[in-house]
Order: sequence, then structure tokens, then C-alpha cells
Amino acid sequence: MPIRYVCSNCGETIFEFKYVGQDYYGIPTPKEIYNLYGGICPHCHKELKLPSIEDIEIRPRLHVYSLGKMPVSIPTRATGELAQS
Ligand SMILES: [Zn+2]
Repeated sequence: MPIRYVCSNCGETIFEFKYVGQDYYGIPTPKEIYNLYGGICPHCHKELKLPSIEDIEIRPRLHVYSLGKMPVSIPTRATGELAQS
């Protein structure tokens, strides 16, 4: 079951953890993703913010962490992208 970190500003996927064993590090924490990109979305260059527990969406086939502006909402077009996978 993949875990996706999605920018809540532009809706682009910042990082995706596809499966266990993908790398040596395991599932990265939101803090690690934040640090990986220096707190800036690599797509829209907006400042990222660490999500709170309320920002984590659990879907039938996906886990999504939203990073970005608060309050967080997933843009409709991003939801469409996610639904295709
Ligand atoms: Zn963004």
C-alpha cells in the first residue's frame, strides 16, 4: 500500500513510498520529507508545513500525507490523479 506525500498547494506528489524494501530507509516521516526538500515544494516552490494528524487522509487504497498550507485540502484535480492509480 503506497504512502504519498502531496503538496496541498499545488497537489503534486512530493514523495511516494511505494512498497517496503524500496530503499534502506523505510517509510519517511513528514519531517524527513520536509527536510529533504528544505521545506519547499519542488513543484510550486511554496513553503511546506508539517501536517498534523488531522491532515492525514487514509483512503481505501492510499495513504496521503498533505504538506503545505493549513487548513489542508486536496485539490480536485489531484484527487483525480490519485484515483487513477
Ligand atoms: Zn506545491
